[in-house]
Amino acid sequence: PAVYRTEGSLTLGDIFIAVKTTKRFHQSRVELLLDTWISQTSEQTYIFTDEEDGALKRRMGGHVIFTNCSAEHSHLALSCKMAAEFDAFLASGLSWFCHLDDDNYLNPRALLKLLSSYAETWDVYLGKPSLNRPIQASETLPNNQTKSVRFWFATGGAGFCISRKLARKMVPWASGRNFVSTSELIRLPDDCTVGYIIECKVGGQLIPNSLFHSHLENLQLIPTSQLMQQVTLSYGMFENKLNVIELSGPFSAQEDPSRFRSLHCHLYPDTSWCLQAVDW
Ligand code: UDP
Ligand code: MN
Repeated sequence: PAVYRTEGSLTLGDIFIAVKTTKRFHQSRVELLLDTWISQTSEQTYIFTDEEDGALKRRMGGHVIFTNCSAEHSHLALSCKMAAEFDAFLASGLSWFCHLDDDNYLNPRALLKLLSSYAETWDVYLGKPSLNRPIQASETLPNNQTKSVRFWFATGGAGFCISRKLARKMVPWASGRNFVSTSELIRLPDDCTVGYIIECKVGGQLIPNSLFHSHLENLQLIPTSQLMQQVTLSYGMFENKLNVIELSGPFSAQEDPSRFRSLHCHLYPDTSWCLQAVDW
């Protein structure tokens, strides 16, 4: 957290950061995040996973949360994790909830700058719209009839943030077991369910923001000179190819396939393992 806090100004200490993962990604993905951006936000960051892991627990202490959700890529299992994240945020009392996947890089300074431009007392839902139009879904009504609904949602794979003011209004649909029941009503994934609750139940609106990125967009298109200003980045497969940001060093593509270590060295050049890296 920043040292100089003037009254009313936002610090990292006001933000609850939730990262969703699963047992098989603890080594391949979570360790990379711990070595990089989570080293700057460890007090604020919680990892939500599905299986006990002694090594992860030793490294993160109480900041790793073993949910009882199943380790599947099903809507139900993923909604179960989102519900756990939401409840932990509510219990934290913090001002902002930010959700990330385990293949996201979060730039804490850029996040702070962005969230500082919104009053904590507003209903704020910020992220990257998943589609260029609202999604259309069919909601199951209590009498088993269906109703067509339309709403925008932020793609979970790019990360998104919600203000506490808005989160409190979501409680009847999103807390405890309610989140899973709500997601069953529209039979869509967890990130769609968040959008549905906010736009169709609470009457809020997604504020689209172009600083959030998933690997479902071409990450090479982000100009290298602007990488340091982005709030989130990602890596992964897109159209059957490895999709990563364009950054030449300090690490090679072999040493750092995701490019997250290289990006981290540009953002935090004093990091010990950055100083040893050659080829600046
Ligand atoms: N994930 C999970 N359980 C699973 C599979 C994936 O919690 O069974 C998480 C994963 O750790 C990541 C997110 O869901 O945070 C998205 O998974 P992935 O990146 O593998 O898939 P994508 O949807 O991006 O292709
Ligand atoms: Mn992914």
